[in-house]
Amino acid sequence: MRTHSTSDVDSAYSLETALPLMKAPFQKGVICVDVTNRCNLGCSNCTRFLENQDGYWDMTPENFRSAVRSLREYPGVIAMIGGNPAMHKEFELLCQIFAEEIPEKSKRGLWSNNVFKHAELAAATFGTFNMNTHGDTKGTESLRDLYLRTNKKGNLFMGNSLHAPLLTALKDLYPEQQMWQLISQCDINQRWSGTIIQNNGKLRAYFCEVAGSFDVARGEDFGHEVVENWWKRPIEEYVSQIQKFCPGCGAAAKFKGSLDNEETDMYTISNLDLVKNSEKRKRKTILISEARTLELLDRPITSHQKSINKRILIIRSRLRVRSRIKSFLQ
Ligand code: SF4
Repeated sequence: MRTHSTSDVDSAYSLETALPLMKAPFQKGVICVDVTNRCNLGCSNCTRFLENQDGYWDMTPENFRSAVRSLREYPGVIAMIGGNPAMHKEFELLCQIFAEEIPEKSKRGLWSNNVFKHAELAAATFGTFNMNTHGDTKGTESLRDLYLRTNKKGNLFMGNSLHAPLLTALKDLYPEQQMWQLISQCDINQRWSGTIIQNNGKLRAYFCEVAGSFDVARGEDFGHEVVENWWKRPIEEYVSQIQKFCPGCGAAAKFKGSLDNEETDMYTISNLDLVKNSEKRKRKTILISEARTLELLDRPITSHQKSINKRILIIRSRLRVRSRIKSFLQ
């Protein structure tokens, strides 16, 4: 069993040395827009902390328009995500707005576990799909249908997967230098995405999707205002978000976690406030007090996203070439 030990520490690490190794949103192939916290599943260690939030929210259509408009020039995929976006009360209207604001279909992404009655609309609106049923039978029927309608273009994953815990705060488990060393290599920062989310009615941008989830779940507001081209900012401009969220997050430790359908969250003491909410709903939780007791993944925590990542990189390079040709011809 592979575990972390404090002898893995490189004493040179601090926020200052970790920062230049981290990626800003413009350096990655996807930016999420979280449109709702409604979801038909309750996966273990959900990246959105849906079980730890109070009540439901849906992004307003006006906010959705501003969110995607701010990403017009972004040369990657804009992923509509939730919860399950197909459960947004005005999903049809969001699809219409998306098509109006972002003309390139391949840039319009849908991340969903079940599209219910919206298969035809989803196939017509989106050009990139991350379909993950998390092993759910109804989701499998729904997404298999969507997959066929899109000529098998999307990424379809129908099994169960291990979800690494995020509520296991690094600051509770590691010395400071080891914590920053791990953060500098965080798989979600290196391989995945920033996000725009509706936080207490206001649109907010985060360098990392998990950072946005922490902020919304706690009812705080450390997000950046969503202005045109906010995503072009260098990582140094997110230093206050990194200081606020990364030490309290467990993603960078790469603990093995639980299968998605076990509906079990691991946490450490700093995140007890969030866990209290889910425990009220009888959610299964496990308190972790030592890193060395936990097995580590021997692959990136985002590796089930491998094929969608490849597709996103292809789309991104195609869009880059197209935009170079366009500016050459002007
Ligand atoms: S908030 Fe968590 S997931 Fe996001 S970059 Fe920091 S350590 Fe990684």
